[in-house]
Amino acid sequence: MATLKLTLFHTRTTAQWADLVFGKQIEKGNAFLRPYGIQFDRYPATGSIELDWTFPLTPNGRVDPGLKERLQMRDLANRTYYSADNRLPVILCQIGGAGGGEAPGSIGMKLNYLPWVIMDAFTLNEDGLTLTHEAGHCAGLKHPGAPPLQDPRLMVGDAAVTDNVMAYGTFDYATQKIAPRSLVEPWQIEAYRSAYFHSA
Ligand SMILES: [Zn+2]
Repeated sequence: MATLKLTLFHTRTTAQWADLVFGKQIEKGNAFLRPYGIQFDRYPATGSIELDWTFPLTPNGRVDPGLKERLQMRDLANRTYYSADNRLPVILCQIGGAGGGEAPGSIGMKLNYLPWVIMDAFTLNEDGLTLTHEAGHCAGLKHPGAPPLQDPRLMVGDAAVTDNVMAYGTFDYATQKIAPRSLVEPWQIEAYRSAYFHSA
């Protein structure tokens, strides 16, 4: 079984939710990736590493002050626990506004660190695949749409393939909920297999 190696962090203010969020994200991601022979390999094996950080991030991470905050948080993670074996840092925190997940340093963004994941503790997609989606960005995968920053292979005509793991899920009017994402393409699996945090 190939692995995607993770190092898990949480901020002090999200400590009490960390086990629940990481547990769900890893379980759902593993179920999604298992048919392709890929599983997450987490460090630590239980729990996560606490960062001495309390304030919520400013929503837009592409420009200051949001970008500066994300780099400060990444620096703090590096000082708190550093490993040389190419693990993907995943930081549970609070992101003001829309929240969700982000992958700083990935698509169209070159920073002084390899791409990493930050996740808001309170606004994640219910399907539990946010970590898998953001790890996809860190492996170079893009959302459906027009090149160069989006991927036309995830479009059918003008419509996005919303059930794909790199989309946002399909809104179901009957239940007023977003249905779980269920699709991944062979070339996307290849991207995960070529990620810096992949281990054969
Ligand atoms: Zn995304």
